[in-house]
Amino acid sequence: MYNIINLPYPYYALEPIIDERTVNIHYNKHHKKYMENLNKLTNYKMPLEEIPQKIEEFPLKDRGDILYNAGGILNHNLYWQSLNNTPSLPKGKLLSKINETYGNFDNFKKQFQEKSKKLTGSGYTFLVTDSNGNISIINMSNQETPLSYNLTPLFTIDLWEHAYYLKYQNNRNTYIENIWYKTNFDHASTLYEELF
Ligand code: MN
Repeated sequence: MYNIINLPYPYYALEPIIDERTVNIHYNKHHKKYMENLNKLTNYKMPLEEIPQKIEEFPLKDRGDILYNAGGILNHNLYWQSLNNTPSLPKGKLLSKINETYGNFDNFKKQFQEKSKKLTGSGYTFLVTDSNGNISIINMSNQETPLSYNLTPLFTIDLWEHAYYLKYQNNRNTYIENIWYKTNFDHASTLYEELF
């Protein structure tokens, strides 16, 4: 059976930037729904992370739905791990790579926010790495995952309306700016350190 990660902190941990009710609904209703859907579509056959690149192994008629729901689980797993009550900055090799690529963390953050503001419709902004360790900031629509493009997602911000609407309504840019008070790069730093 496919599963989602346990929320790494209490529902209220991201207050006042993301309210407790939003986190509760987002995790228990939205995130869990992707898991329920995927388990209805397929019995456990391969690790979740392998689905995007091995989607041809599933029946043609189910591929779109399987990919969508697997992406929904993976993207939300990473989103929760990209946030924390106390923000943390990138460390080690990831910090070096960010400095090399963007000059410094503040400039990286600015470019990430700009990218987020440019997303049309529902989706995510990701920090990804290719197999050579080159990092970039990309937008993906709906529940598309960078894994489909041989890119490893390291960090992400969910830009679907359900991620911010209760508190920010139509002011998506305010959410995009405020969320950086709660961003956590421990997971991204560890992942990058393990890969390179
Ligand atoms: Mn979401």
